[in-house]
Amino acid sequence: MKIIMLGAPGAGKGTQAKKIADKYQIPHISTGDIFRANLKEGTELGKKAKEYMDQGLLVPDELTLELIMDRFKNPDCAGGYVLDGFPRTIPQAEALTKALEEKGESIDFAINVEVPDENIVNRMSGRRACLACGATYHIVHIPTKVEGICDRCGKELVLRDDDKPETVKKRLGVYHDQTQPLIEYYTSQNKLAEVDGTQEMEAVFQNIVKILGA
Ligand code: ADP
Ligand code: AMP
Repeated sequence: MKIIMLGAPGAGKGTQAKKIADKYQIPHISTGDIFRANLKEGTELGKKAKEYMDQGLLVPDELTLELIMDRFKNPDCAGGYVLDGFPRTIPQAEALTKALEEKGESIDFAINVEVPDENIVNRMSGRRACLACGATYHIVHIPTKVEGICDRCGKELVLRDDDKPETVKKRLGVYHDQTQPLIEYYTSQNKLAEVDGTQEMEAVFQNIVKILGA
C-alpha cells in the first residue's frame, strides 16, 4: 500500500503516519526527518536544507526529489510506504506520479488531515520532538510519561527551531500557497480521502483505518 499524508504543518501527519506504518508494516518516510537527520550528521545536504528550514521555507524541489528518489531504491519500499511531508509542491507530486507510472504503479490514497489554522500554532508550540528516534509528543494532548524525556528511547526532547510561532506563521503561508493545491491534484486523480484532524489522536486513526481497510 502506498499512502501520502497531506495537511498543514502540525496537522498530525507524522503522528498518524507512524501509527499507519506500525499497523500495516510499511516504512514511514518523512522528508523532514531525513533532512533533520542529515543536519544532525552535518552532511552537505543537511547544511543546504537548514538554510530553508530555519526560514520556514521549502527546500528546493531538485534537492528534495534527489533525496526521496534515492530513498525509494531501498528494498524496504517494495511493499509500499507512507509518505509524510512529501510531496509538498505540484512539481514534486508530478515527479512522483511519473516515477511510479514508469514502474506501472500508482499511489493508493492521499489522506488529507484537516486542521484549521487557528489550532496549528497551539499544536506546534506544544510539540516536542525526539531527534534521536523521530517520536513526537504534545505537552498537553500527547504527553510523555516523564516530562521532557522520550517514552520510546529515553533521550531528551526538543522544541524544534522551526516550531517557534513566527516561523509557524510563515510555514502556514507556504503551505497554503504551495502545498494546498495538492488537494485538488489528488482529487482529480480520485485518490483523495479527508479526515477531521481536530479529533483526538485515536479517533483520527480509526477514521484512517476505515479508509484504508483493516
Ligand atoms: P505534522 O507531522 O503534520 O507536522 P505532528 O504529527 O508532528 O504534525 O503533530 C503536531 C503536534 O500535534 C504534535 O505535538 C503532536 O503530538 C500533536 N498532535 C498530533 N495529533 C493530535 C491530535 N489528534 N490531537 C491533539 N494533538 C495532536
Ligand atoms: P516537516 O518535518 O515535514 O514539518 O518538515 C520540516 C521542514 O523540512 C519543512 O518546513 C521544509 O523546510 C523541509 N521539507 C520537508 N519536506 C519537504 C518537501 N517535500 N519539500 C520541501 N521541503 C521540505
